[in-house]
Amino acid sequence: MRYIDMHCDTLAEALAGKADTAYALNGTMLDVKRLSEAGAGAQFFAMFVPQRNEPGWFGLEEMPEAMELVELLYRIYCRTMDECAEIISPARSLADYRANLAAGKLSAFLTVENGYPVAGRMENLEKLAGMGVGLMTLTWNDPNCFGTNHSADPEQMRQGLTDFGKEAVGYMNELGIVVDVSHLSDGGFYDVARYCKRPFVASHSNCRALCGATRNLTDDMIRVLAERGGVSGINFAPGFVNADTSDRYTSVSALCDHVAHFRNVGGEECVGIGTDFDGIRGEFEIGDCTGMHLLFDELHRRGFSDDFIDRFAFGNVERVIGDAMG
Ligand SMILES: [Zn+2]
Repeated sequence: MRYIDMHCDTLAEALAGKADTAYALNGTMLDVKRLSEAGAGAQFFAMFVPQRNEPGWFGLEEMPEAMELVELLYRIYCRTMDECAEIISPARSLADYRANLAAGKLSAFLTVENGYPVAGRMENLEKLAGMGVGLMTLTWNDPNCFGTNHSADPEQMRQGLTDFGKEAVGYMNELGIVVDVSHLSDGGFYDVARYCKRPFVASHSNCRALCGATRNLTDDMIRVLAERGGVSGINFAPGFVNADTSDRYTSVSALCDHVAHFRNVGGEECVGIGTDFDGIRGEFEIGDCTGMHLLFDELHRRGFSDDFIDRFAFGNVERVIGDAMG
């Protein structure tokens, strides 16, 4: 069935695999060909920008400067859009997405994971908006010009956005770049809730009540996100799903437990999908995008209404795209 996935790291995998496009990739959890087979409505493609130079990332010997890395990932994205134009088209608004649906095509939304390349300069946000970026995850797992990352250190976790971050969130609202709090500190989350004027998202985060990982949202954060008209995408990473974070297997049942918890705490309109495909390691009952139907089948089996399953699969994210992008 139609679904929208708010996060994948497939562009990074394509770069690491020296692929020209993300049409058909070996050893990945999705590619455009399989998205089409799966019946996806839209896939968000992240341009992931790490700040640390760890060996093996992107298969590059040396990490390029942040904006150069964005350009490398952007080139793969653009080539994919050009070469797969019959089946997928870029979207920067709800109207684009609807036009693609009407043409029988799936939509690609371009995102940035980590605001580091913005480097404290508003004109870099304009540059990203000009490339078609429709969502930005403010931090990854390091502090940057926007704020600081989630952490087991309570003092770091309490830290909010920087002065630049507070102002930039307002500018992102103007530019129609959706603000994404996944990876952000709890203090940063509450600052986004305060300074962001449009609905925001946690593109790939689960429930901390079910899995204590600091990447997940507390019940209070889920309620605030829901009140602000936002949505969180269910992440498939075993370490963000299971109560025992050493368990490396993600079952469909455990994913559905998170869906149910989001609904119970924040209501029917605050939960969607953010698989994190190609950014996660482990063993998976849904090992690639062609298995997504298993998730919807299990929700049906558990007695969730068709109306709720539609909201979860695509409706809630469509609403946020309409309210906060473009
Ligand atoms: Zn991530």
